Amino acid sequence: MTTIGILALQGAFLEHEAMVKRLGAQTVQVRKPQQLDALDGLILPGGESTTMGLVAERWGLVEPLRGWVRSGRPVWGTCAGLILLAERATGQKAGGQPLIGGLDVTVSRNYFGRQSESFESFLVAPVPGDPPVRALFIRAPAIVESGEEVTVLATVAGHAEEEVAVAVSQGTLLATAFHPELTDDLRWHAFFLERVRAAS
Ligand code: GLN
Repeated sequence: MTTIGILALQGAFLEHEAMVKRLGAQTVQVRKPQQLDALDGLILPGGESTTMGLVAERWGLVEPLRGWVRSGRPVWGTCAGLILLAERATGQKAGGQPLIGGLDVTVSRNYFGRQSESFESFLVAPVPGDPPVRALFIRAPAIVESGEEVTVLATVAGHAEEEVAVAVSQGTLLATAFHPELTDDLRWHAFFLERVRAAS
């Protein structure tokens, strides 16, 4: 049976858990480093990346999470989870915040924040050719720069008519700026589970 860990320090981990279970995989709420051992894949949920980073630091999870991400196992970061996975973030609080890193992108933390707190949009589906997916953006980041290894899976209109990436993959890493776990649509979770099964 496929086991998906969901970082459960803060944020929307229960919603992710419910969706993963609906797809027939088992879940672990990850709060301790040793829980990482038994996982086939890991989800870093949305919430507040500064809080999550600080709690992860306090609980000795930052280095184990870095090791896990760099071991090449599948990880999916949504929203704040995308920020944690990013190698570089702009718009951080003074003094910065601990990032796990691994994903060769620069995220702008509250890219959409000033124009509106949250919005929804229809995006290309993770599987090409499928009908568009409804996506919820809540104080969402955007990916403003990505390295050569990164594949952009979806974009939306950003500032000054530029298109910004809101879903990317890089090897076994997947990241989305929006929240599939807050909709009824299981397709992004199914896409991640496929990637986990292909990797194990
Ligand atoms: N902008 C938030 C942060 O910096 C993320 C918001 C979210 O996860 N919905 O953590």
